[in-house]
Amino acid sequence: ASADSALGTRIRELSRAHVFTSWSAQQEIDPVPIAGGKGAWFWDHDGRRFLDLTSQLVNVNLGYQHPRLTAAVQEAAGRITTVAPSFAEQSRAEAAAAVAGLAPEGLDKVFFTNGGAEANENAVRMARLHTGRSKVLASYRSYHGATAGAIALTGEPRRWGSEPSVPGVVHFWGPYLYRSEFWATTPEEESERALTHLRHTLAAEGPQHVAAIILEPVVGSNGILVPPPGYLEGVRALCDEHGILLILDEVMSGFGRTGAWFAAEHWGVRPDLISFAKGVNSGYVPLGGVVISAEVAATFDHTPYPGGLTYSGHALATASAVAAIGIMQDEGTIEHAAALGEQTLGPQLRALAERHEVVGDVRGLGVFWALELVADRTTREPLPADRMKAVQQACVARGVWPLVMGNRVHVVPPCVITHEEAAQAVALLDEALAEAGR
Ligand code: PLP
Repeated sequence: ASADSALGTRIRELSRAHVFTSWSAQQEIDPVPIAGGKGAWFWDHDGRRFLDLTSQLVNVNLGYQHPRLTAAVQEAAGRITTVAPSFAEQSRAEAAAAVAGLAPEGLDKVFFTNGGAEANENAVRMARLHTGRSKVLASYRSYHGATAGAIALTGEPRRWGSEPSVPGVVHFWGPYLYRSEFWATTPEEESERALTHLRHTLAAEGPQHVAAIILEPVVGSNGILVPPPGYLEGVRALCDEHGILLILDEVMSGFGRTGAWFAAEHWGVRPDLISFAKGVNSGYVPLGGVVISAEVAATFDHTPYPGGLTYSGHALATASAVAAIGIMQDEGTIEHAAALGEQTLGPQLRALAERHEVVGDVRGLGVFWALELVADRTTREPLPADRMKAVQQACVARGVWPLVMGNRVHVVPPCVITHEEAAQAVALLDEALAEAGR
C-alpha cells in the first residue's frame, strides 16, 4: 500500500478526540496509526515499516494478513456470520474439536468466550461450582485480564485501580530467581522454596476452602518467567493432595509462543482447566475459551452451567481458529517457534548480555523472551523509565518495534518471523542498546 500521510493525520485526530484507550492517561498518548502489515512487519500511513517484536499484544502468532487465515474468515462470512450458542454450527464444532485435540488426554470440552479475561472468569466459576469451595490462589506476578474477577486474580499493580475487588482471591509469590523472594541462588533452590511458600500459604488459608490455583505456566506480561525444574509438577502435586483444581492460564503462552501448543507440555503437567485466547486464532477475530476436563465437565451434565455469552463460539471467530490451527499444523509453526528460540533468539539475545552492561538477565524460550535492563548489575536496580524510553525510541528509529514493559524489553515476535528477520531484529536491538543503553 502506498503511504497516505493525510489519512494518517485524520486517523490520529479522530482517535485523539473519540477513542478512549486501554491503560492510558488519555491526554498523554499519541498512538501511531497503523496502515497495514504482512508477516512479521507492519507499517504506518507515512510508509515507515517496522519489524515487529511485539506481535501486537503477544497474539498475532501467525503474523499479519496470513492469506489462508484471512480467506477462512471471508469464506465463513459468506456462509453465516453468527449463530446463537443454543444451536450447533460447523465452525464452532470443528474449533472445539481442534482445540480439545491439542490439550492433554481427558480435557475434551471447550467453552468459548470473546477473550482471555472471560476465559478466566469462567474457569474460576467452573472450579468453584465443581469443588463447592470459594477461594482461589493466584500469583502476585501475574496478569489474568481486566474484568472484575480476572483483575482480582491479577497480582501485579494493574489490579490496584480496581480495588476493593471481588473477594475470595489470595495471592502468593511464584519463582523468579533473578529477584528471588526466597534468597535462593539456584533454580532448584528457588523451585523448592517457592513450593514451600505455597504449601504454607495453603495451610494458612485452609486447603479445604481452596477451589483452584491459577497460574501462567510461563509468566507473560510480568517478565517471561520460565518456571524452574520441578515447580509446576510440585504445584500439581499440592493440588492433588488437597483436591484443588489447577487452572493454567495459557492465554499468552499457548499456541506456539513457547515452541509448543501449550507451554505446560514442556513440564508434562496436566491441568484441570486451561484458559486460552490470543494465539488460538492469532487475534484475527476476538476469541478465547476454557478447555475443560471430563471430571469438571461432568458436574454440568445434568445441572445447567450458570454462565454464557451471546458470542460464545462466534462463527467468524471459531472459523478463524480452525484455520489458524490447521495452518500451524501444515506449516510446522510450532517447530519453527521452538527452533527460533534454540538457534537464533536464545543464543543471540544471550550474546547481548555479554556486550552490554545494562542487560542484567536474559530468559525465555520459543518466541517468548525478555531482556531485563538494570542500572547496576550488582544491585540489579531496574533501569529507570526515562532510559527505557530512550532504548525504545532508539529501536523505533531503526525500524524495529520492541515491547517495553517496566525495565524489560520483551522480545515476542510472531512465530512466523524468519531466522534472518529475527537475527536482523536482534542486530538492531544491539545498536539501540549501544546508543541508548549506557
Ligand atoms: N491472561 C493472560 C496470561 C494474558 O496475558 C492476558 C492478556 O494479556 C489475559 C489473560 C487477558 O486476555 P484479554 O485481554 O483477551 O481479556
